[in-house]
Amino acid sequence: MDVRAERVRKEFDRFPALHDVSLKIQSGELIALLGPSGSGKTTLLRLIAGLERPTSGRILFGEKDASDRSVQERNIGFVFQHYALFRHMNILENVSFGLKVRPWATRPAGAEIYRRAMELLDLVQLSGLEKRFPSQLSGGQRQRVALARALATEPRVLLLDEPFGALDAQVRRELRKWLREIHERTGHTTVFVTHDQEEALELADRLCVMSQGRIEQVGTPDAVYDTPASPFVFGFIGASSRLPVTVENGGVQLAGQTLGLAAPDVTGAGQLFFRPHEVELVEGDTVLGGAVVASRRVGGTRRLEIELSQSLHRVEIDLPFDHPAAERSRIGFRPRRWKVFPAG
Ligand code: ATP
Repeated sequence: MDVRAERVRKEFDRFPALHDVSLKIQSGELIALLGPSGSGKTTLLRLIAGLERPTSGRILFGEKDASDRSVQERNIGFVFQHYALFRHMNILENVSFGLKVRPWATRPAGAEIYRRAMELLDLVQLSGLEKRFPSQLSGGQRQRVALARALATEPRVLLLDEPFGALDAQVRRELRKWLREIHERTGHTTVFVTHDQEEALELADRLCVMSQGRIEQVGTPDAVYDTPASPFVFGFIGASSRLPVTVENGGVQLAGQTLGLAAPDVTGAGQLFFRPHEVELVEGDTVLGGAVVASRRVGGTRRLEIELSQSLHRVEIDLPFDHPAAERSRIGFRPRRWKVFPAG
């Protein structure tokens, strides 16, 4: 089922948490709402769920306006960061709950509920633990139960709000892979809120990057990483180095010196962005370069901080960890890819 937000605005006591946001979530896709704290991700999710009403604009499920529809009518599956499992019910009872409380006419027979719950526990790889209580499970296992419970009622849309946020890094990574596999098997339209870019890049079919109540960019992880639409997105997704520059006749200048980099779309003050690992070394400081002032290991690479001879600005570049040039005290380099955004 497609879900659309059409020019949705949400104010809390006149404070605009969302400014006229429009987004189309395609049927069957897993989309991540990604952004820093306070960017409006949870507010958008709650509007889709029907837990909040828009101040203006509409939420559509398919072609139908859902704005006046309750959470139940929208048929949403929910998983929150803090597993809202029923502590006094065992795992099987937790997963069956949504089916048991259905109105009599649509409630499956007891044996069917049992069969479906066991099938879901198998899907989330918790078969054999159905008699345990939530307190007897790890955090990661509890979130898998929460997902099985959300899937039990065959929701039209699955909404996940930082579901792995409270778990440690190793468990998070495992659950990410696992969620992706489940998504591929079940194909639910899924909206996933996270502030963790690595999680979003790995999990999602598309990212919706948000900042200050606005959508900055929507696209596949590759498109967003390779062609960030704004300085915010460039700085937020992946590592980046940036420099204040001016552009004259399409040529980029730093502190009055021409760098030999083109920016045909910009005139005047701008910001040059590049990825620290997308650089090649050159002789001298003909493009960019200067003194190596710091060097540290970042995973399998060495990140060098360079004070540029052209200005006193410092930027970072990454070299393979054992690259011979990493020992030099001065380095000249050229970005392989770059982007200049107009300043301001
Ligand atoms: P986080 O990652 O911290 O959960 P978020 O991106 O999900 O952040 P929201 O929770 O959507 O952000 O909040 C967006 C803005 O709206 C914030 O400034 C927040 O303080 C405000 N806000 C959210 N809910 C309410 C509310 N019920 N009353 C008042 N202000 C709210």
